[in-house]
Amino acid sequence: MTQRYCEIALPVPLRSTFTYALPAALKGESLIGRRVVVPFRNRPMIGVALAESDQPPDFSPIKSRVREIAEVMDPVPALPPQLIELGHWISRYYLAPIGEAFRAMLPPEVELRHGREYTLTDTGRAFLQQLAAAPELTNMESNEHKLLRRFEKSDEPVNATSFQSVPGGRAIADQLVRRGYITACDVVRHRKARTQKIVAWNPANLASAESAAVAEDKIHKVLTAIGGPLPLPVLIEKAGVSRAVILRLGKGGRLLTWEEPLTPDEDAWDTDFTPPTNTLNAEQKSALEEIWRWLVAGKFTAGLIHGVTGSGKTEVYLGAIEAALSRGKSAIVLVPEIALTLWVGRLVRARFGESVAILHSALPDIERAREWWRVRHGHVRVVVGTRSAIFAPIENLGLIIVDEEQESSYKQEEVPRYHGRDTAVYRGRLEGAVVLLGSATPSLETYHNARAEKYRLLTLASRIENRPLAEVRIVDLREEFRQQHHAAPVSEALRTAIALRLEEGTQAMVLINRRGYSWSMLCRSCGSVVQCQNCSIALTYHKSRQRLECHYCGYSARPPKACPKCHAEYLYFVGDGAERVDEYLREQFPKARIARLDRDTVRTKREYQQVLGAFAGGEIDILVGTQMVAKGHDFQRVTLVGVVAADLALGRPDFRAAERTFQLLTQVAGRAGRGELSGEVLVETYYPEHYAIQYAVQQDYVSFYEKEAHFRRILHYPPFTALATVLIRDRKIENAIRWSRALATHFAPFEDRGVKVLGPAAAPLARLRQEYRFQFVLKSPRRTVLAQALSGCLDFCTSKEIPETAVIVDVDPASLS
Ligand code: ADP
Ligand code: ZN
Repeated sequence: MTQRYCEIALPVPLRSTFTYALPAALKGESLIGRRVVVPFRNRPMIGVALAESDQPPDFSPIKSRVREIAEVMDPVPALPPQLIELGHWISRYYLAPIGEAFRAMLPPEVELRHGREYTLTDTGRAFLQQLAAAPELTNMESNEHKLLRRFEKSDEPVNATSFQSVPGGRAIADQLVRRGYITACDVVRHRKARTQKIVAWNPANLASAESAAVAEDKIHKVLTAIGGPLPLPVLIEKAGVSRAVILRLGKGGRLLTWEEPLTPDEDAWDTDFTPPTNTLNAEQKSALEEIWRWLVAGKFTAGLIHGVTGSGKTEVYLGAIEAALSRGKSAIVLVPEIALTLWVGRLVRARFGESVAILHSALPDIERAREWWRVRHGHVRVVVGTRSAIFAPIENLGLIIVDEEQESSYKQEEVPRYHGRDTAVYRGRLEGAVVLLGSATPSLETYHNARAEKYRLLTLASRIENRPLAEVRIVDLREEFRQQHHAAPVSEALRTAIALRLEEGTQAMVLINRRGYSWSMLCRSCGSVVQCQNCSIALTYHKSRQRLECHYCGYSARPPKACPKCHAEYLYFVGDGAERVDEYLREQFPKARIARLDRDTVRTKREYQQVLGAFAGGEIDILVGTQMVAKGHDFQRVTLVGVVAADLALGRPDFRAAERTFQLLTQVAGRAGRGELSGEVLVETYYPEHYAIQYAVQQDYVSFYEKEAHFRRILHYPPFTALATVLIRDRKIENAIRWSRALATHFAPFEDRGVKVLGPAAAPLARLRQEYRFQFVLKSPRRTVLAQALSGCLDFCTSKEIPETAVIVDVDPASLS
């Protein structure tokens, strides 16, 4: 019997897989796609098997033995073959370490518990006896004695948790390890699956009704009236009997009980919901017929649904899912943020019921794992989720929908730095599926692809029932200031418009895309702003918490009395954020019901549902919020949307600044006038002439696209050039500079091969979390050459002993700032 070997991807920031030997017990089994536990640097670690072979690995200078796989975790492969291929692509295309690419695809590790166990050595045993016999002990010795006595009871290893009651427990244990009295070993233990007791009426038990006790009668009624088995706590509540009674009846054979995995609590948000029943209009119908044809063709097709806000794209998505299911296929729906998984998930669930799974990163691990495995075991045919749901292990995939495909949240800002939309297109290609990208304001990349006929284009040009788009009016803040001679947090024009809505009894939304009370604290004497200790960024003032906070690293401090630089006491706050706008509106409209929706006021899913539910139900008059309020939602009674400081994003040093501004304004304008009532939008700005603002006011996407595309072409930016950034970071500025200079010599030769190299220069955020950052921007019309320059750069770093963690490569970055 030849020895077999397995290539394992481990979640470590290294660019290789690791070879392990298959133990004899596993002969004949294929491990590909299954998760395994292997020893790695003296710790057990979970990885996934990617390939098998009969050849031992051809290493090594040190004659080390190939280690064995310790354990196989999955009876069925966690990853089906297409996902393994997708993982390799992520690793290649985004230059992500292979193990980290695969870590993003695997279910959360809820089965294992990491811990450390200790065993007593012979010298340790002698030492223990010595301590026990000693007439007197120092404090230290007495603690050591306490700890070592934990080993007296049995020869079993002792878990680190049992040292907690000993003063200095872990530190003393480490001491004792060093002195050779005990040995330590990291272990992983299986966690028991969490289950609940289910109770059913035993059908064999034809109740001797006359003798039945009252309690038994109640239980019988509940279990038969509801018609099925119930979880124990539910039965206790519904029947109003005690746990003891039920368990006694169970023992007596009148009831059947068994254990089942916990099911999620029912969510009133879902269950109290009646979805609208809409008959498709002509545009929706013809879009859907076209999608049907793609599905029937049964091969990869990518399409863009370009539909103005309120054109009823969601209804087309639902129709497309239904079509895919009716052909025996499954579907994935990606939405750009967790909040929208609730909104869209609810519609999808109302339509397709139990076979729908919701996946997003804010679910507790245990819930996410359960949903994940429900998908993997084939119980789910539609997955709704955020970015990472593109890795859902669903089989027989026929359709992928990416809603609001332009959103930058589809790009993951940590390793692996993949783009959810582009990954969706690649997965669709792999699986021969239809990929639908939907948006009112498509990204330049996607619209460019549609124009170039790489993607098919479906247009929904009018709103449902031909409702007019909201009228958009610009409030020129320069003009405002001339008239008012002071700058209030909200312009006079917007204030009047809100007052009108309050009189009329309709609703208003106010978008202010900055959290906090003031963006910064400025010294009138020396002109400096109060900065974060760890980052080169101004601290934001949060009034309710009386803190200055860094939105990048979380640093927070009391607002200083005097300027930290010049010690003058002339500090004042500049730039109004959502908290200040909220406060101002409450002062102006003391009787109005006002709510704020941003990450400071809404932290949990439930709070979010409460605010949205209250607004939809008309219990709130004015909703103030950051871009959280701008996306996707469908409120029927909103007749006014005000945008405070609309041009905030235009000031950023980023090639997507105009695109982002245009998108945000168009999206938020789309929230007004969606019901019977017509809507108005007020946009406050200091640059009314800017084309992004002008075209947003006219809600003219195509003209915006053409103008922006023109600039992108002449300035060599995507979609006309492939773009990547390479960031070098370190706590020591000398290192960051030295490594950047070294890397410059690696990139230089690629200039002749068509790669434009900009930098190294200080990154726009020059310091973050105490690290200094320098950046290269690389552009090339030829993606393959760019990829060579980048992958070579990692090898170069290895050869120059530049740590891998100091270099961040970002392919197709969402922004340059
Ligand atoms: P979009 O995502 O394109 O902005 P939505 O999909 O949210 O628009 O649809 C806007 C509103 O129109 C929703 O309230 C939806 O229920 C409603 N709607 C969609 N299709 C129809 C239809 N054919 N007839 C009537 N109402 C519709
Ligand atoms: Zn900071």
